[in-house]
Amino acid sequence: MATNALVNIWHTSDRRKQVIFGFVQEAIDRAGAFIHRYPDYPRRPETHWFDPEGMRVVFWRMLKDAGVRVVCNLTAIESLVTDGRIRAVLVDTKTGRKAVRGKIFIDATGDGDVAANAGLPFDFGRASDGRVQGMTMIYCLCGVDPAAVRAAAPEVREQVLEQMKKLRDEGKFPQFLEAGAKYVLSSAKNDTPYNMVPAAGNPLDEEELTRLSMEAREHVFQIVDLWRREMPGFEKAQVAQMGHSIGIRESRRIRGLKTLDGPMVVSAAKQPDAIGHGFWMIDIHDPKGSGHTTWVDQKSEMMPPVGESYHIPLGMCLNDKIPNLAVVGRCASTTHEGLASVRLQSHCMVMGQGVGTCAALSLAAGVDMAKFDVRKLQAQLRKDGVYLQDVP
Ligand SMILES: Cc1cc2nc3c(=O)[nH]c(=O)nc-3n(C[C@H](O)[C@H](O)[C@H](O)COP(=O)(O)OP(=O)(O)OC[C@H]3O[C@@H](n4cnc5c(N)ncnc54)[C@H](O)[C@@H]3O)c2cc1C
Repeated sequence: MATNALVNIWHTSDRRKQVIFGFVQEAIDRAGAFIHRYPDYPRRPETHWFDPEGMRVVFWRMLKDAGVRVVCNLTAIESLVTDGRIRAVLVDTKTGRKAVRGKIFIDATGDGDVAANAGLPFDFGRASDGRVQGMTMIYCLCGVDPAAVRAAAPEVREQVLEQMKKLRDEGKFPQFLEAGAKYVLSSAKNDTPYNMVPAAGNPLDEEELTRLSMEAREHVFQIVDLWRREMPGFEKAQVAQMGHSIGIRESRRIRGLKTLDGPMVVSAAKQPDAIGHGFWMIDIHDPKGSGHTTWVDQKSEMMPPVGESYHIPLGMCLNDKIPNLAVVGRCASTTHEGLASVRLQSHCMVMGQGVGTCAALSLAAGVDMAKFDVRKLQAQLRKDGVYLQDVP
């Protein structure tokens, strides 16, 4: 999502201090001119924004320097499980089907494809109607005159927004995130990713996903067309880039040894098997696609208190069925509400580092990941720069 969908904001602060370091900090340190720290750091959760294309190269350099054998351009399609252990993942490539064998597998597909194909149970969508969070097509503009946008009279801006709302309510204009539109109409910049064009549906249904993605691309152009006509500073605006893929926030949530839920997030719950910290709010983008997000409501009861954070437990990435298979990222074990917080990239990277380290140490020790001494894992993570405090 960080690169292909242009999702370019990182959150590392509990609003008093930075509480996510480790790989996230290493990426920040390596990114140089590709990344910027917000001037109000660390008073907001959002602390950095980056150039998605630059970050693609930074991640590649990190993998290369660590000696990782990287193979892109393949799709995991089947997981081979015998005697309760995963032995290989079959992948489709341009030259045919191949098997990737290993002793431990970590599924970081976002959708939990490897784990679901291995037969692990999963949940999908919110409890009330089974719908997952809305998606968004992010886009960047060029040709905008930012000074003219800023200089526009507030009434003009308001009129444009009202026109968008009226047309939308009449069914003649796409849905949009109002807070996002307001921001662009007052502070538009060139080459900055904008997050305001929603879509809703099932991201695991390839036909539906194709339709939603194409419709969202049309919607971006419809919105920019209206701005070009109506909004000072947008006369020569063009769409410079859209995500290569639409942004997907939620699909399968693989059931694990532990499940992160809303109350754990809000109460800043601590865990003996902590591998790092999280603090983001229960940020739910309307599963019906209106574009509304609970983030705009900024309700304090949906977030840990200022200066506090919850623990991300190893158990949400492990399961009781296949001991040599873990999941990391947005497919880890959560409720719909828990995921709404821990889906942040910085939080997913905490899981990646914690589980990757656990896999390496377990392999060396010749034990399964769940059996590895978690205190030793935590000691290694701290040595590697991970912030890990208040472990009970
Ligand atoms: C529009 C939008 C805005 C967001 N805003 C923010 C934000 O401001 N800050 C923030 O931190 N987070 C934000 N998020 C959330 C965050 O980006 C995601 O939750 C996070 O990137 C998930 O990481 P992941 O590694 O689990 O999955 P992904 O980023 O989805 O990565 C999964 C990877 O696996 C690959 N893959 C999938 N299936 C297969 C397969 N079968 N075989 C091989 N490869 C496969 C995919 O190509 C992809 O590269 C946003 C999300 C969206 C959609």
